[in-house]
Amino acid sequence: MNQLETIGHFIGGRVVDTAGDRYADVFNPALGEPCARVKLASVDEVDAAVLAAQAAFPAWSATPPLGRARILFKYLQLCQQHIDEFAAMITREHGKTFSDAQGEVARGIEVVEFACGIPQLLKGEFTDQIARGIDAWSMRQPLGVVAGITPFNFPVMVPMWMFPVAIACGNTFVLKPSERDPSPSMLHARLLKQAGLPDGVFNVVHGDKVAVDALLDNAAVQAISFVGSTPIAEYIYARGSANGKRVQALGGAKNHMVVMPDADMDMAVDALIGAAYGSAGERCMAISVAVAVGDAADKLVATLAERTSKLKIGDGMSEGAEMGPVVTQAARQRIERLIGEGVEQGATLVVDGRNFSVAGRENGFFVGGTLFDHVTPEMSIYQEEIFGPVLCVVRLPDVGSAVELINANEYGNGVAVFTRDGGVAREFVRQIQVGMVGVNVPLPVPMAFNSFGGWKRSMFGDHHAYGPEGVRFYTRHKAVMQRWPNTASAGVEFAFPQMK
Ligand code: NAD
Repeated sequence: MNQLETIGHFIGGRVVDTAGDRYADVFNPALGEPCARVKLASVDEVDAAVLAAQAAFPAWSATPPLGRARILFKYLQLCQQHIDEFAAMITREHGKTFSDAQGEVARGIEVVEFACGIPQLLKGEFTDQIARGIDAWSMRQPLGVVAGITPFNFPVMVPMWMFPVAIACGNTFVLKPSERDPSPSMLHARLLKQAGLPDGVFNVVHGDKVAVDALLDNAAVQAISFVGSTPIAEYIYARGSANGKRVQALGGAKNHMVVMPDADMDMAVDALIGAAYGSAGERCMAISVAVAVGDAADKLVATLAERTSKLKIGDGMSEGAEMGPVVTQAARQRIERLIGEGVEQGATLVVDGRNFSVAGRENGFFVGGTLFDHVTPEMSIYQEEIFGPVLCVVRLPDVGSAVELINANEYGNGVAVFTRDGGVAREFVRQIQVGMVGVNVPLPVPMAFNSFGGWKRSMFGDHHAYGPEGVRFYTRHKAVMQRWPNTASAGVEFAFPQMK
């Protein structure tokens, strides 16, 4: 057997793979075997990355925004040339299908396109003559060293929600990607360097809790962007903000799709199949609960059952695969345990994806598409984020009780309503306590020039990710008032200044 490649860190413009003795295996989930191993950073290695970022900050933040944008334009071109290389890395280490991975890269690239407009985005506001002889303006300045901590499920796109905007704003960046699929972050580092990004502006440290805690506790790190599960998001928010940092921590989800009796049923079923089983349900915007209102339920469940049992499941690189494996053996076991709990707690298991095997990939971490009917809110399959290919159908009599159910849920990431009734849709949009809402759109993931974020326990902190909120998160507002000595002076003033 060939020796596995070791993935090192990227610090100060070069790959660092010497120091340290902690490693983790990176698996190819379709094969169920390791395909690489990754270094797990020590506190010293994290501190070295932060020091490199600190050293790069004065020159980078003084580079005019257009100069920074020009490097991003080159990086954008390089990303476009490497879409398939990124996608193959994603499929190898994450498991999702190659076409889904290509889509992920394309959505990440859109954030670079947005960040290339940074000279326009950083413009302040100017007011002439706020008092006699005095002008005022606002400006936004970078924070310094900022860090990103990212999940396994979008190893290209989620880091790209963060660093293109952060570095465009003049910050320097330390990325701690998921240790499950670390390779794409190293390709980002190589392409950014090739695009002319100065050494130290973008650094990657791989690792686990040790690396994360080192970033949270390093006084030079000014802000933390986190995306991952809710318990860790809450922890990152608490510890990061206790240490005086600005924190945006995006967490887990339980996304509902309400299907009204007047909905276009074919459209609703297509939407549910893609949004529940795409990427094996490992998306924070995946639909995991279908709320069937009134007599929508029987037809919906019958059609879903037929389609779910016919899903084409296989190695993400294989022709025609619609769904790949889940990320680890532990994830597979957890999902199968939850399916078992659903049965024990009284839900109707319509399609059972347990013990699923793919010919030629018998050791892969596959779970078949699973469908439950008659799910109720106290069941663990309703309460927990399963993060697998499991769709739960809840039957309710009217839209009011659907809104009530969703608003009572602890998560508030995404939601959708499928209906032909504009009045129902409008009221739903207004009443629902969820950050991202789709009307006949199952995965309402905002484009790069809008911002992404959930409500309630799906997000801790204030500013949402990327778009205008991302620019605000990665900059500080400064207000300036200016008077020149040759303008009329009123002499000494002891009273609080007012416009005269
Ligand atoms: P995770 O929370 O296990 O890991 C996320 C990051 O935190 C990783 O970099 C990991 O190394 C680190 N981490 C893990 N345990 C830690 C600990 N105890 N202390 C400090 N750091 C720790 O999440 P995951 O399994 O990689 O990703 C899946 C989760 O991410 C799901 O809950 C999903 O909903 C969520 N997610 C949310 C969004 C969103 O925008 N809200 C987007 C993508 C994924």
